[in-house]
Amino acid sequence: MSLISSNLQAVRADLGAAALACGRDPRQIQLLAVSKTFEAQAVIEAAATGQQAFGENYLQEALEKMQLVHMLAPDLLLEWHFIGPIQSNKTRQIAENFDWVHSVDRDKIANRLSEQRPAGKPALNICLQVNISGETSKSGVMPDDAFALAMQIAQLPGLRLRGLMAVPEASDDEAQQRLPFRQLRELQEQLQTGLRPLGVVLDTLSMGMSADMHAAIAEGSTMVRIGSAIFGKRAYAK
Ligand SMILES: *Cc1c(COP(=O)(O)O)cnc(C)c1O
Repeated sequence: MSLISSNLQAVRADLGAAALACGRDPRQIQLLAVSKTFEAQAVIEAAATGQQAFGENYLQEALEKMQLVHMLAPDLLLEWHFIGPIQSNKTRQIAENFDWVHSVDRDKIANRLSEQRPAGKPALNICLQVNISGETSKSGVMPDDAFALAMQIAQLPGLRLRGLMAVPEASDDEAQQRLPFRQLRELQEQLQTGLRPLGVVLDTLSMGMSADMHAAIAEGSTMVRIGSAIFGKRAYAK
């Protein structure tokens, strides 16, 4: 068995245990495999174990990888999630090539993604990225501005608003980790109340990475974004 497949097996077991520990059904929590900085071959190996959803941060790297995966394994049906910062001149390629975007944090980006989503494809699934720890250096809409942005996105024809995403400040302490995740869940509940009249159902809380997956699941995560625990340590100098 390859390292990636044994890592994936361990992550799935860990996810299941974390869910059961807080009385949740593990099937409510999707695993997004974050393959940034890793080769197409790593994606193919993970896909061979049944992993279908992959997350990428850097557009150019992602497009090259997708093409290579498609060439090497044309029968794989994968779901691609864009989770990195978005420059407005990159929205067209994101709208054309991805199934989900987790990192929408301003109206200009949302408008462009909607306009540029190809007509033949289903609406692009969107999570609003929220700056839940309130750090000025991090991307994400501020919690107070999230409702206005969510209302706007809910009315764009090319987009389907699914929920919220956050990358909170790192901490080693599980109680500390849970706080921002709880705030994100509570914000999602508030938004859901306001959006219900529009017929919008928010079903996704994209939160939790390799180091804080347990805390995120305890606070209601429905999608954990796991990179290094599956693929290994990243070499950042690219
Ligand atoms: C890199 C990244 C991840 C995965 O992080 P790991 O710590 O490797 O699990 C998840 N979400 C986002 C937004 C990322 O940039």
